[in-house]
Amino acid sequence: MEKTPANWIDDYFNNHELHKHAFRDVVCQVQTKIQKIIIVDTYNYGRCLILDNEFQSSEADEFIYHEALVHPSFILHPCIERVLIIGGGEGATLREVLRYKSVKRVVMVDIDKEMIECAKKYLPSFHAGSFDDSRLELVIEDGRKYLERINEQFDAIIIDVNDPLEGGPSYMLFTVELYRIVAKMLKKDGILIVQSGAASIMENDVFTSICNTLSKVFNHVFPYVTYIPSYALQWGFVMATGNPGKLDITGQEIDDRIGSKITGILRFYDSITHHTLFNLPKYLRSDIKKQTRIISDKDPLTEHYPGISNQK
Ligand code: SAM
Repeated sequence: MEKTPANWIDDYFNNHELHKHAFRDVVCQVQTKIQKIIIVDTYNYGRCLILDNEFQSSEADEFIYHEALVHPSFILHPCIERVLIIGGGEGATLREVLRYKSVKRVVMVDIDKEMIECAKKYLPSFHAGSFDDSRLELVIEDGRKYLERINEQFDAIIIDVNDPLEGGPSYMLFTVELYRIVAKMLKKDGILIVQSGAASIMENDVFTSICNTLSKVFNHVFPYVTYIPSYALQWGFVMATGNPGKLDITGQEIDDRIGSKITGILRFYDSITHHTLFNLPKYLRSDIKKQTRIISDKDPLTEHYPGISNQK
């Protein structure tokens, strides 16, 4: 029988629930000015990225998260040409965006230069060379500051930052004031997509608060979820737009658009997955409806996670 592995990462959901990953090696461990970056090789999920003790993504199933983040909106939009990504340091959101033949320009704004350097060096299957694409402008800056100073319009804006942790770099990117700035930077048919945290039965406050806050700015807000095996959690995303255009398209149209608009083969997203994503269970629809919190600059969302610990 195989010996029990000696090294474990404890990924705490809260003080009363934890998910453990056994790992072979620590590939990189660095405290940057912004956050603590840890990259490990796990037995079950391959290479994994952990930021400020919070599990971010794994080699084995990051395609689920990143395809879910990008493709539903990009397929529904008539023609995405200009894209802004806030965060997304692994380069995998960028990889999915660059699959679109129509995309002419992508600005990616990440606050942490060393995160990008670590991704380039240690996460090659995540970015798949996308940092070298000539359509990319990479900006190292706080996403909030960038959004406040820039006057450009985009077809899609993707906010793919860490969950809003207390003392972390991202919590000012989840407020109603920030969403108002974003709304002005979207073109007429433009779509905002927000990675919105856990959407489980135990933990969905971040997700439901984001849904409620976005609904104060955008007339059309579409929450959706999928299960991420390496998180052992159902995860939430939100699509928001002022003008949904013709969002109600058939499954055949979705698959036809995938065939004509995208380069390469998707592993997660197609018409059947699309409809599954947007069919939320009753308890979650009810929690979204009940949520009254509006996240604001004065009262931002800041979670305190017990996080991750390495056990030897
Ligand atoms: N997949 C992740 C998850 O599960 O939450 C999120 C993607 S990613 C690794 C998060 C990125 O957001 C990191 O590269 C981090 O440097 C960046 N980030 C955090 N705060 C930011 C900010 N204020 N402005 C721009 N980028 C930020």
